Amino acid sequence: MSLSCEQQCINGKYYLCMPDNFQYPRNLLHRVYKNLVVLEDIFTRNVTAYGTIRVNNCSFDKRVFVRYTIDQWKTFSVLNAHYIMHYADNNTDLFQFKLTVPKDKLLSSSLLKMSFAICYCVNGGKFWDNNYSQNYNFEIIESSREVPTSILNQLSRKKSIIRDDQLYKQITQDYHAISNTTQQIENLCGLKNLGGTCYMNSILQSLSLTSLLTNYFLYNQDSLVFKGIIINEYLNFLYLIRCGQYSTIIPAPLKQIIGHINYAYLENQQQDAHEFLIVLLDYLHIDLNRTQCTDEEIDYNLFGQINKNSIIVDLFYGIYKSTITCLQCMHTSSSYESFVCLTLPIPSTNQCTLQDCLQSLNEDEYLIDDDSKWFCSKCQCHSNAKKRLEIHKLPKILIIQLKRFQMNSEMRWIKDESLVLYPEDDLDLHQYSSSPSSEQALYTLYSIVNHNGSLNDGHYTTFSRDLSYDQPQWFEYDDEIVKYLDLDQLHLNSKAYLLFYTMQHIPE
Ligand SMILES: [Zn+2]
Repeated sequence: MSLSCEQQCINGKYYLCMPDNFQYPRNLLHRVYKNLVVLEDIFTRNVTAYGTIRVNNCSFDKRVFVRYTIDQWKTFSVLNAHYIMHYADNNTDLFQFKLTVPKDKLLSSSLLKMSFAICYCVNGGKFWDNNYSQNYNFEIIESSREVPTSILNQLSRKKSIIRDDQLYKQITQDYHAISNTTQQIENLCGLKNLGGTCYMNSILQSLSLTSLLTNYFLYNQDSLVFKGIIINEYLNFLYLIRCGQYSTIIPAPLKQIIGHINYAYLENQQQDAHEFLIVLLDYLHIDLNRTQCTDEEIDYNLFGQINKNSIIVDLFYGIYKSTITCLQCMHTSSSYESFVCLTLPIPSTNQCTLQDCLQSLNEDEYLIDDDSKWFCSKCQCHSNAKKRLEIHKLPKILIIQLKRFQMNSEMRWIKDESLVLYPEDDLDLHQYSSSPSSEQALYTLYSIVNHNGSLNDGHYTTFSRDLSYDQPQWFEYDDEIVKYLDLDQLHLNSKAYLLFYTMQHIPE
């Protein structure tokens, strides 16, 4: 992998150097109890700093803000930090902030500095973390093309992201990457839980083992990096999880960046893994799609009408064909709709096969109620009709969601714990497909996201294998713990929630 500094800066112009006076706080809790507020973690991307603040929970009403300046405190601005979560075990709270250097300030030709301090307002008092009176200081620098050599020399002695190995060092630090060779199994990397974030870990493991996607990212990274903040961060994450050097990483930077686009993911609480998968694929698609248009083209395109091509669409999108037949005159009409995931109901039995679940796709739906009748253009009236769903285009990567969570008749969500037996090597979908090639209807399973436990107190894990090996071994990923998986566990698994299959014969 090679990432150059040019690719790391925003619009090819500016980026933020990490505060060289920041150190991860030792005796964190002791400091929080004593000073009430502590900057726990910080990392930078482009001209944005992402920070995490820990405060002592001394009262319900509290406010945390960042006071920052870019002119040596002649003027300053204030940015509120967002409340993230409460640590019940030790009586502290977590806040996060995202501080971006204002665009108009970047136009100044001189080398800029940004300084900040953190204020915690509670019980009528104000408590500061100003880094032992030094404040936290950043340098805002231009890309190497425009930075005079003298400044470059100056910077290269400091903690900057100029050189590749320094960038990796920074990413390794941002993700708290640990190499523990005695614990590590087969160069695999576990993901530490941030408190309820197993939904994210289970999806990230499955996606990183989607070799068609990972290979695309790794082969094309030079042209992909810097095309968007999510792509950029996903590449950093991919490098760490796939390089084989680390036994665990904490995917906090990727989560924070996703969280600053979608606040639901800023908090460290349980979310639905399937929803997170759809959101992440969508964000990756948006970033990649943008790479095919210039800014001008994006402006001229209406929202949602931008060229729909991206590796995400190419790999994960299938197309449904829905055909409605008038039962009076047998006139038919077809429409098409894309899907990223096949959501299948589980027939109400204690045990069934995946093929039983797939049967629902082939069932005709009769539109015969007064409010569901179809307007037939031939008969020129609302008539009884039947609707049939087929798969018009099968996706290269097929994700199946088993509908384990359903509302019962009392409007309460319940979990279906039925055992669904799924094939490992030859899932055949040709009978559900309207396209003639049956060869492309064969799929191989490579990852499973499991939901363990109850609806409100669940835990996600992943079973995965890397198909790029000849006889791939299955592994279980349970946050930071990676284990060999018995085939019994794989085959008799009533926890399976999402199944990831790859097409055996990929069309050119
Ligand atoms: Zn008709």
